[in-house]
Amino acid sequence: MIVKPRIRGFICTTAHPDGCRAHVEEQAAFVRRQGPLDAGVRRALVLGCSGGYGLASRIVAAFGCGADTLGVSFEKAPVDNKTATAGWYNNIAFEEAARAAGRYAQTIDGDAFSDAMKARVIETIRADLGQIDLLVYSLASPVRLHPRTGVLHRSAIKPLGSPVHIKTLNVDRGEVHDVDLEPATPEETAATVAVMGGEDWEFWVDALASAGVLAPGFRTLAYTYIGSELTWPIYWHATLGKAKEDLDRAALALRGRLAALSGDARVATLKAVVSQASSAIPVVPLYASLLFRVMKEQGLHEDIISHIQRLFATQLCGGAQRLDDVGRIRVDDVELSDAVQNEVRRRWPLVTTENLDALADLPGFRSDFLRIFGFGIDGVNYDAEQDPFMGRPDAG
Ligand code: NAD
Repeated sequence: MIVKPRIRGFICTTAHPDGCRAHVEEQAAFVRRQGPLDAGVRRALVLGCSGGYGLASRIVAAFGCGADTLGVSFEKAPVDNKTATAGWYNNIAFEEAARAAGRYAQTIDGDAFSDAMKARVIETIRADLGQIDLLVYSLASPVRLHPRTGVLHRSAIKPLGSPVHIKTLNVDRGEVHDVDLEPATPEETAATVAVMGGEDWEFWVDALASAGVLAPGFRTLAYTYIGSELTWPIYWHATLGKAKEDLDRAALALRGRLAALSGDARVATLKAVVSQASSAIPVVPLYASLLFRVMKEQGLHEDIISHIQRLFATQLCGGAQRLDDVGRIRVDDVELSDAVQNEVRRRWPLVTTENLDALADLPGFRSDFLRIFGFGIDGVNYDAEQDPFMGRPDAG
């Protein structure tokens, strides 16, 4: 079949097999060009490995650190004439590239929040890797079926306390407009913490530790976003921020529990990028479009892979870590630098639909969005027939 993008709101319902492969290979080639990383990461488990920051972390672990990797994601295989999700193609492309480089690479698709998945992963580590020395927790999900209570929690992306009247961007139409966002109820806030907070990260580390599959000196990272005050009403000071604060609580608790292994647990604060998860958050596309324009103008732009490469190279390879007052790793320093933020803040009240092209980088945002699904990647022939099963006819 010939695969074209079909965009519905915040998602693209098609994904391009050759494009996803080229996107993964492009990221792997970038990491290889940066040279080997001496991070002491030989066997890594990446939760949320199929896209965005998790995929980039797996690529840096494999092609920078030379690590064997086990990944977990929640992706859909192709059916008949419907393509798989992008992450499904990314996983295959990653496994093939890593194995060609002589690295072990295995991916398990299913619900990372479940006890069954934890048991399967432990079994696989025991059989194939023995132990792991890095766990990257990079899940982004709207729901979590709690493995102990059976409750299905649904996160809500809402402000706290009172309604918020704020600027946003309709990416499809290229229109800047105001929205009124209603505040979350206490139940919605608690549900968001249950989905995106630290409990599941703790469940993972505890399960892996009890099974004896954590190597001495084991480290774990969970990813967070703080950003600038422009997005705080819908992010850091909102339901998502509450969930992310709970990651900080979990990190502290895990550091205590990992002390016996001389292990470490850190929340790493990353920059804003376009991902499937971040496209769905109101306000963020407008902020990100302004941010990308300013960072590109100042020669400071980082994409997902170069950002994660910097995280590993500067924060995991033994030099002094950039930690904040609650012990988080900070690599959002460039996004939050005065030079960048002063300029984004200056443009924020000025930006309208009419001057969007002059002040922001909507084309860059749209292109990053399409690239997630394998579209717009250099060297890919988008008129060529695609095998949606990528040579794995039994996969569906
Ligand atoms: P993403 O949507 O690109 O990837 C999410 C991953 O989670 C995918 O691999 C998906 O398959 C997996 N997943 C979702 N539900 C799952 C489940 N139940 N079981 C197994 N796997 C599941 O997301 P992203 O933007 O890369 O976000 C990853 C982390 O990085 C999140 O914690 C996010 O808050 C953080 N972060 C993102 C940004 C940003 O701008 N995108 C900035 C800073 C921090």
